[in-house]
Amino acid sequence: MDMEYLQNLDVQLLVGGAVAVLAIAVGAAYLYSSKKPKVSLDPENFKEFKLVKRLQLSHNVAKFTFELPTPTSVLGLPIGQHISCRGKDSQGEEVIKPYTPTTLDSDVGHFELVIKMYPQGRMSHHFREMRVGDYLAVKGPKGRFRYQPGQVRAFGMTAGGSGITPMFQVTRAILENPNDKTKVHLIYANVTYEDILLKEELDGFAAKYPDQFTIYYVLNQPPESWNGGVGFVSKEMIQTHCPAPASDIQVNTQILCFVFL
Ligand SMILES: Cc1cc2nc3c(=O)[nH]c(=O)nc-3n(C[C@H](O)[C@H](O)[C@H](O)COP(=O)(O)OP(=O)(O)OC[C@H]3O[C@@H](n4cnc5c(N)ncnc54)[C@H](O)[C@@H]3O)c2cc1C
Repeated sequence: MDMEYLQNLDVQLLVGGAVAVLAIAVGAAYLYSSKKPKVSLDPENFKEFKLVKRLQLSHNVAKFTFELPTPTSVLGLPIGQHISCRGKDSQGEEVIKPYTPTTLDSDVGHFELVIKMYPQGRMSHHFREMRVGDYLAVKGPKGRFRYQPGQVRAFGMTAGGSGITPMFQVTRAILENPNDKTKVHLIYANVTYEDILLKEELDGFAAKYPDQFTIYYVLNQPPESWNGGVGFVSKEMIQTHCPAPASDIQVNTQILCFVFL
């Protein structure tokens, strides 16, 4: 073997190696970009999302499932924040209202809204009229509250009616994160038993995470056999079913309250 042949071989190996490294790098970059979920929300502009499923949960509550642009897209909503939905009321006037999806960014390809529709409600009219295949204009994220795991030791939450959805979002994010040990104590008030939203999911959380999540239902018009609270949420109920204020309340315990009956 002469020297020239060996040198050529070296150059060939070097070039071959460089090409292989480049191919791996390009492949990894492609995989990374294709794996990185695409965020669907735009904080500045309304974007249209197609209604793909509508499930009536009670006479005035329905679950709406909207498709995201691709099967791997996520909505891109930080925990604790909400979206603005735009629609038309019964007079054809534009109306914009805030809503909190019951899905998280761990749910890819779609998002869900649980909506209580009031007979005279303006945005309620828009949702009542929506059919599968229609599009909803959505903008976000919105809101000042943003949950960070570990920001508090425990949450005491009180919610009324459809005010459960912001609480549900934070609770679900905490419980489904094995690294988040935050405790959640929720008092959820409604008029009748039938008005309770997401009951199956909430009871499922209480059964699956008994050391981390408790729920106390309060009804103004309870059924005959009822072992929850009766009437309006009282100071005594909060004292019994929410964590006691800690010496440093900012750090340890935070009370969240959302009521839309
Ligand atoms: C952060 C945030 C998140 C929210 N998330 C959700 C959600 O996930 N799901 C959901 O269903 N709602 C949610 N809401 C409430 C939602 O924004 C609207 O207020 C609700 O849908 C009613 O709007 P509307 O235009 O239909 O009624 P409006 O036109 O505002 O109200 C007209 C009339 O309807 C009746 N009515 C309307 N709303 C109520 C009420 N809350 N209590 C009693 N009577 C009422 C009253 O007679 C009222 O005078 C959320 C609100 C906030 C602030």
